[in-house]
Amino acid sequence: MSEQTETNERAETQGVGEPSTQWREYQGASTGTDIECKGWRQEAALRMLNNNLDPDVGENPEDLVVYGGTGRAARSWDAYDAILAELRELDDDETLLVQSGKPVGRFTTHERAPRVLIANSNLVGKWDDWEHFHELEAKGLIMYGQMTAGSWAYIGTQGIIQGTYETLAALADEHFAGDLRGKIVATGGLGGMGGAQPLSVTMNHGVCIAAEVDESRIDRRIETGYCIEKTDDLDEAIENAKAAAEAGEPYSVGVHINAADMLEGMLDRDFVPDVITDQTSAHDELEGYYPSGYTVEEANQLRDENPENYVEESLDTMARHVQGILDIQDTGAIAFEYGNNIRGQVKDHREMEHAFDFPGFVPAYIRPLFCQGKGPFRWAALSGNSDDIHRTDEAVVELFPEKEQLHRWIDLAQEQVEFQGLPSRVCWLGYDTDDDGLTERARFALRINELVAEGEIEAPVVVTRDHLDAGSVASPNRETEAMRDGSDAIADWPILNALLNCAAGADIVSVHDGGGVGIGNALHTNNHVVLDGSDLAAEKARRVFTTDPGMGVIRHADAGYDVALEQADKSNVRIPMRDSE
Ligand code: NAD
Repeated sequence: MSEQTETNERAETQGVGEPSTQWREYQGASTGTDIECKGWRQEAALRMLNNNLDPDVGENPEDLVVYGGTGRAARSWDAYDAILAELRELDDDETLLVQSGKPVGRFTTHERAPRVLIANSNLVGKWDDWEHFHELEAKGLIMYGQMTAGSWAYIGTQGIIQGTYETLAALADEHFAGDLRGKIVATGGLGGMGGAQPLSVTMNHGVCIAAEVDESRIDRRIETGYCIEKTDDLDEAIENAKAAAEAGEPYSVGVHINAADMLEGMLDRDFVPDVITDQTSAHDELEGYYPSGYTVEEANQLRDENPENYVEESLDTMARHVQGILDIQDTGAIAFEYGNNIRGQVKDHREMEHAFDFPGFVPAYIRPLFCQGKGPFRWAALSGNSDDIHRTDEAVVELFPEKEQLHRWIDLAQEQVEFQGLPSRVCWLGYDTDDDGLTERARFALRINELVAEGEIEAPVVVTRDHLDAGSVASPNRETEAMRDGSDAIADWPILNALLNCAAGADIVSVHDGGGVGIGNALHTNNHVVLDGSDLAAEKARRVFTTDPGMGVIRHADAGYDVALEQADKSNVRIPMRDSE
């Protein structure tokens, strides 16, 4: 059977249908200054959707899968065609509604309103689990939107690279005097997000050993410069890693092995890495994580023939995997969970109460940044011209001359991060305000808008972000794990965030359930603002990039974090009951 036929048959069984003819013709986002929609806001939505499904960007676009297990950009190929048709017709005062990857309505609103509103994978609390989700998915009624997949904001592995780099830099600051040189990080998963791990480790001068069951994923990371070598042999991987660490050389190796087997193999050999983590798609025991003892092909067959058995085997392997992390931690390694809910899975399904004896990465390294309204946002050049991104790189350095760490990041990204699809960049900026009350994100967005207006940048730039941001997520096993006031599971905050983004006039606003930690475990939101050089874009940018990250400040201030309260004072953020006390 040809690879093509096999893919199409799998797509059929998942109910997405035959890949669209126009998708085959696009092969990614259109570029240049000619547009097929009635305005740049609609054109940006269309280009970002196609960018997600660019074969160089998404992990498995033939099945509409963008990343993170089965995170999709549209519910079916028919829905994809229909979204494109609606976007082409959409007027500057209309809003398109997309429900789990399918266009369901179009209303006249007004020019300052969002052009597209998206809700993905949301279920009412009592039914909010994988079982009900899969039932409804099989009926073609819902889609897994992951985070940036269903909100059309995915930009490939480059989208997570700075976050992974910063997390490891924070870990190095805390445990290894600011550098990973001579240190070995062991992990698993080289998919769309996890693939950023080896490069993030080597950017911090360290050594990475990453287990991956799917050899083609290792090859993809090597081709795009994210990983240096691959091997089937764990002894060889350990030997090479030790030699590189002793020499103080950055090095990475993808090991073609199940992650649970790799950790047990390391323990059998008395090999202790300095850091242990994981980014396999453990959030989804059926379609994300692979059980031990099977090749990818054998596991795929088991899933098709006996999904119940697959789930049991998958969870058994996860239990061994988590035990391996805990045992390696006991031998002296720094362990943290990297946002895939592997601890929650084995606690819920294998009664491993001690699974949470190692921390999640947010409370361990990221929360202080969220308290300050800092988070990862990204921008893409709709022209497709990489010079446009280089001009934005210069702009961010010019605007923030004092931020040395940011300059180092821009230099590293220029040297080592290949563009995938539309040229894009990721950056973390904070909430400190200037004399005009503009936050760092707002100042940067306004500067880009000016550069577009002046013609220094060829076409509009779209600014969007990760769902994992300061005030946009409720996720008790990840972004809101161990909140100071115990408010981990309260989901009012992301809902307020999405409503506020609409009020502030973002061009696309989305609300999702699930994402990185699986159905029922998180609610989160995203936004896009299209900077086309107009006064309207400036007005929207000023509002959205003040209110959206401002949610991070008020959410953490409400939970009692001093850093957030100080940031609120510094940036003049009003917190009603506190101000009136
Ligand atoms: P992906 O589905 O694209 O890739 C997962 C990879 O893990 C695949 O290549 C798969 O072959 C491999 N894999 C699965 N089970 C394995 C096993 N037992 N041993 C070895 N390899 C195995 O997913 P992704 O986009 O890379 O995301 C990975 C995980 O991280 C997901 O759970 C995702 O939700 C989570 N995530 C974390 C963050 C973060 O900020 N930390 C962000 C996004 C996603």
